[in-house]
Amino acid sequence: MREAPEHLPSPCIFHPTQVAAAPCRRCGARTCVACLALSGARGWCRDCDERSRLGPASWRAVASGLLGGVGLCLAFVPGLLGLALGYWELRSIERGDTPRAGREWARAGVVLGWMNLGMGVAVGLVAAWVGLFAS
Ligand SMILES: [Zn+2]
Ligand SMILES: [Zn+2]
Repeated sequence: MREAPEHLPSPCIFHPTQVAAAPCRRCGARTCVACLALSGARGWCRDCDERSRLGPASWRAVASGLLGGVGLCLAFVPGLLGLALGYWELRSIERGDTPRAGREWARAGVVLGWMNLGMGVAVGLVAAWVGLFAS
């Protein structure tokens, strides 16, 4: 057995009669083998997995996608904010802090954000070029 000899094995937080197998990698809750969700190699507890799988998209995910779209219409600046929010949200989803439902929004925010950045630079270059030759 691999239990530390000086401590009694701690019980599963959901099943007091079961010995906890491993702490959840996200929240640290100790759960038994039956409770550890099979979410890839994550080793999350049932609560964390359910929250990640079933929860609604976070405001940050939605804002990221929307800002990316708005930026394409409005001088690209909101798109840069969307880009930052998108990356922030994707990291947060990986950690399990926000539900996976937001992933598509965040991805859209990142893709649109890069488009905003690219187009902003292109427009800036064209404006500079036009200014150079118009004077
Ligand atoms: Zn957990
Ligand atoms: Zn359990």
